This record gives sequence, C-alpha cells and structure tokens, in this order.
Amino acid sequence: MRSGVLQTPLAYLKGVGPNRAEALKTELGLETFGDLLQLYPNRYLDKTQYYKINQLQNSGADVQIVGKIVNLKTIEQKRGKRLEASFVDETGELKLVWFRSHKWIRENIKINEPYVVFGKVNRYGNSFSMPHPEMELLKVHQAGLKISMQPIYPSTEKLSAKGITNKVVSKMLQQLFLETKADFNESLPKTLLDELKLLPKPESLLNIHFPKSQELLAKAQFRLKFEELFYVQLQLLSKKAARKKKIKGLPFKEVGEQFNSFFNNHLPFELTNAQKRVIKEIRNDMGSSAQMNRLLQGDVGSGKTIVALMCMLLAIDNGFQACLMAPTEILAQQHYNGLKDLLLQMNLKIALLTGSTKRAERTFLHNQLENGNLNILVGTHAVLEDKVQFKNLGLAIIDEQHRFGVAQRSKLWHKNEIPPHVLVMTATPIPRTLAMSLYGDLDISVIDELPPGRKPIKTVHRFDSNRLKVFGFIKDEIKKGRQIYIVYPLIKESEALDYKDLMDGYESIAREFPQPEYQISIVHGQMKPQDKDYEMERFVNGETQLMVATTVIEVGVNVPNASVMIIESAERFGLSQLHQLRGRVGRGAEQSFCILMTSHKLSADAKTRLETMTGTNDGFEIAEVDLKLRGPGDLMGTQQSGLLNLKIADIVKDNPILKLARHHAVQLLKQDPKLDKPDNLPVRRTYAELVKDKAIWGYIS
Ligand code: ADP
Ligand code: MG
Repeated sequence: MRSGVLQTPLAYLKGVGPNRAEALKTELGLETFGDLLQLYPNRYLDKTQYYKINQLQNSGADVQIVGKIVNLKTIEQKRGKRLEASFVDETGELKLVWFRSHKWIRENIKINEPYVVFGKVNRYGNSFSMPHPEMELLKVHQAGLKISMQPIYPSTEKLSAKGITNKVVSKMLQQLFLETKADFNESLPKTLLDELKLLPKPESLLNIHFPKSQELLAKAQFRLKFEELFYVQLQLLSKKAARKKKIKGLPFKEVGEQFNSFFNNHLPFELTNAQKRVIKEIRNDMGSSAQMNRLLQGDVGSGKTIVALMCMLLAIDNGFQACLMAPTEILAQQHYNGLKDLLLQMNLKIALLTGSTKRAERTFLHNQLENGNLNILVGTHAVLEDKVQFKNLGLAIIDEQHRFGVAQRSKLWHKNEIPPHVLVMTATPIPRTLAMSLYGDLDISVIDELPPGRKPIKTVHRFDSNRLKVFGFIKDEIKKGRQIYIVYPLIKESEALDYKDLMDGYESIAREFPQPEYQISIVHGQMKPQDKDYEMERFVNGETQLMVATTVIEVGVNVPNASVMIIESAERFGLSQLHQLRGRVGRGAEQSFCILMTSHKLSADAKTRLETMTGTNDGFEIAEVDLKLRGPGDLMGTQQSGLLNLKIADIVKDNPILKLARHHAVQLLKQDPKLDKPDNLPVRRTYAELVKDKAIWGYIS
C-alpha cells in the first residue's frame, strides 16, 4: 500500500469519526484502516433466500422476510420505552422491536406497504421478534443492486446498540475501498500466485467483503487463508533455522561402550521398528553440532522410556551426564525404579531427586552431580532449582511435556554452559502436520507402533444404575488375580467437592469389598507424598487389589497386573485424559478392560467422547476428535505459534491449506533463505512488517 495509508487511524475514515472509532477499538480491537480491512466476515448470508414467518426456527438466525407492518405501538416499561411493530406475511406474525430512534421510525415507516426486513430473530416460546431490523421497501429492494451474498461481520451487543450495525460496517468498508482505490500491495511472490493460481491481493480483499460471485468468494477465501498460514509457517521456520544456526550444541560423536553393551546384552526385549527409527533420528540430531530440541510423540504404552534410556546412554558415552524429569513424584519414582532395574548389570550411577528427598541426601546428591560421579539424575521439578548444578549436563529429557511450561523447559538450557540437548516426550499425540506447525521450532519424532502382543483394551460405557453388575465383574477379575483402578475426577476449582466424591466413593467401595478379603489403596492430591508413595507401592507390589484414586494416577504409572480401569463420572473428563487413564491398563499379557461410568445426563459432546473411547484405541484418532471438539486452544504451543490469532484460517478445518502453505514456506526459504531475490520482495516486505517487534528478523536480514 502506498506509504502507510493502511496505518491511518479509523477516526479519519469518512463516516467513522472519533466516537465510532473508539467503539470499534474497544469492542473489536480495530484501530487502523488496515485493521478494518482485515475484519473478515464470519459468514455470508444468501440474500437470494427469503423466509416465511412460519419457517423461522432458531434464535440468533439472520433472516430476510417480505411482509407488511400492520400496527405500531409504544410500550412503557420500567427499563424504558420500546416501540413494537406487528409484521405479518401470509403465514404468520413477527414482532419488530426498537429500543431507540422511535421518533424517526414513527415518522418514516409506512403501514401496510410491502417491506423487506432483515435481521437476527429471537424466539420466545412460539413467537419470534427481530430487534432493530434493517428495512427496505420492497419496490426499492427490487430496484436496487442485487447482492447475492451479504457478508456478516463479527459484532458485539455494544456495537449494535451504538448503531454500528452490519450494514454500517459494510458501508465503512465501501468507503475504505473508495478512499484507497483498493491500491493494496501484493504480499505473495508472483511465481507463487501463478503456480497456485491465487487471486491477487486487492481482488481477494474486494471479494471477501463484496463477493461478486460464489466462485470469486471461494478464491478470495482460499488466497487469504493461504497467505495467513504461509506467514505463520515462515515465521516458525525462520525461528527454527535461527536457533539451529545460533545455538551451538554438544556433538555426541561416539556410539560407545555403554550404549552398545546395553543394546547387545541387557535389552529386555526386541525394540520395535518405530523405536529403532526414533533412536536413529535422535542419534543423528545429537551427533550434529546444533543443539537438539526434539519432541518425541508416542501413544501410551508405545515404549518411550527405553528410548529415553538409550539416548541417555549416548550422552554418557560422550562423557556427559543426563537427566530425566517427570511431572509427579509417583512417576519420577517409577522411572527411577524402572531405569535402575534396567541398568542393574551396568556400572552406572543413577539417583532420584524430588521435593521429598531428605536434606542430607540432597546435599550428597548435589556433590555427586557437581563432581560428575552421578551419570543419570531422575526427578521432578526439583531438578530445575538453581542449587542443582551439573558437572556437564549433555541431555535433558522431559516426560509428559504438556505438564511443563515453556519457561521450565528453558531453565534446563541454562544448566550447562553450552545448552544440553533437549528431548520432550508426550503421550498426547496430535496430527503430525498440526504438530509441526504448533511446535514449529521443535523437531518431531513419532513412535507409531505398539510393542507386539498387546491385546487391545475392551472399553465399555455403563450407567451408574448398573453399578452392581460392574462390582460383580470386578470381583470376578480379582478372583483371577487381577488388580483394578477406580478413578474419580479432579477439577481444581472444586477440590473440596472432588475430595468428597472420592471419599463417598471410597466408602461405598470399602463396604462392597470388605477386608480382609479385599485390600484397597487410596491416592489423592491432598495426601503427603510419602503416604502416596506408600499406598502406590502396596498396589505395585500386589498387596492391594483395588486402587481408588483421583487423576494423580493419570500420567505414566505402570502396573502390568492391573487389568481393569473404572472411570467414575467419565462425562467430566476430556478425551485425552480418558485415553491417558485407559493407558494405565493393557500393559500385561491379560485381556484388559476400561469401564466408563456416567449418569444418564449426557451432553452431546460427552456422548461423542464416550463413543470415541468405546470405538477406538488409537491415540491419534482420538486426538483428531478431541481437536474437533475443543478446538486447538488447549494444545501446547498454540499460543506461541500465533495459530490461535488467525483472522481467517482455521487450523483444524483448513488443514490441507496449512500443509500447502508449509510446503511452500519450506521451499521458499530453501531457495532464497535471505529473501533477497527480486521476486520475493513482497515476502520480504510483508515479513518485515509482521516481525517488526520481534527479534527473529535478525536471522533473515
Ligand atoms: P510409554 O511410551 O507410555 O512411556 P513405557 O515406556 O512405559 O511406555 O512402556 C510400556 C511398557 O512396554 C513397559 O512395560 C515397557 O517395558 C514395555 N515395552 C517397551 N518397549 C517394548 C518392546 N519393544 N517390546 C516389548 N515391550 C516393550
Ligand atoms: Mg511414559
């Protein structure tokens, strides 16, 4: 755009003025011409469609109706006057309502003449009303320009109350196009426009606001979505490239004695092909001179731990220490026990550090870490404390990354002069292309195969009213020597309530499964860590057959003999949480079961979640449904990558465009990493504009 016209404050646009500009700013965050231009319609209304009053169904629908006003009256109310009109067609009656501008309407409206009214309808029982309709005499309407698709803009109640209706916004945009003569800069290179047959920028903007046809609208949408995703990808890729270039790593050149001896003599099972492939990827990455920052995705039970161990052995082979961090004490303890067993025959020092490690032991540990006697440290957040210093930390692994924040990840970076390689592991899989975009600056490895011989878990949904049958089933399983989890929801906001649920549940279970025949463990968030551990250990050792717990049990816990997972109030859990919980069983040779208990009152989403769980064991499939239900907001990384602030694209629905955009962003950076080819000038300019306040620009310029 010619010298910054798009930066002009909206107040200067004819027909806006200071008051409206202020309202647009507070309500929609619009400040400049450019912002208004990017206020894309939420949807388009088919103006060729006319409704009959008896066809109206839902509140909130925008409709266009032909009819007549048969009477007009003012109604006095405590909260002020309102003007009401009866609007009829041959099928029924609709109330038109005004809370202001009464005088103007009284004077101008024509009774008994055909009008076209347009607006949102509200439903009260079986009658409908339309507040502040847009109106036009039918004969004017018929003589006027035919717009077949009317854009509907995002709005708020305050805006409409201030008279900034959809029509007014549309007028503002008309004015904007007039004043600027739609002389907008192209932001994509010509070669790309040609190759993908994209609509040029000015035409796209024009057709998004004033579609000339369905076809041009579709083209405009495609072009603008592509552009938006293209620039998100370009930023992510540049950031990653900048990191790789700038941040030196510790090259692990050796595959040495520890790795080989473990691989040849102590591996308790044959690695799956996926595990082998992933270890290779990580090895290559750590062998180069750039720091590794990698995400390892693998469904619950896919065997990430052994991969973590072998990577740590590589670090040790190259003269470095390694640490493994887990989000809970229980999990850290399990990792520690598991790794210690695996390393039993090897001459390596491994230790555990958590919040409840005793002072004296802690001091000893700190020393061992600093003088390099300790090879592997397993722990919780306690590992991040400043007091914890390594002699030479070469690899930091974070299990169940979604529990840790980015800030914590970066703390690890400072544990060594040259930052250690970082591997984050997660069992919350997300579709791969999405992952690449979300985690942008991370590399990704995926274990997409379960160890052989696993029996798929049988999952069923049962209503609370069938509880007795479920108890009977549990008893049968216990007779066969199995162990059972019973999990209650935990929602932070109402911890006291959840605690009560858990305790009520515990009591009824204790009555149903009396001692001494049955032993029950209980674990919840309000217990002291050592009490938790004690209870957990009794269950791990098979001293108790039932484990009643809140979701503290969710992450990582491994008790192969446990074959039944009962989830209480399953409708209150999210899909990924349900899947994680289910992953606690199915770890041994026996057939495992997951029983989802709910009341009869289920929302549509809850039903979908339950059906998904009973329908599949595939974590990736579940993740896709979850994404569709919840949107990407809860996924780690969406904030940082800017994928949530998208103005027109939707990363779930527009996934194919996302892939395309990523592909072309990769190509572009490959061919012209500094963006100095003439054809790429539009990219260089747009990019500079986007990252004006961000440090990553330094990489390209
Ligand atoms: P997760 O990926 O959920 O962390 P784990 O690493 O805890 O999974 O592994 C789950 C179980 O599978 C463990 O008992 C582990 O010993 C076992 N396991 C891992 N890899 C294999 C394999 N290749 N063959 C057989 N069992 C395996
Ligand atoms: Mg694990």
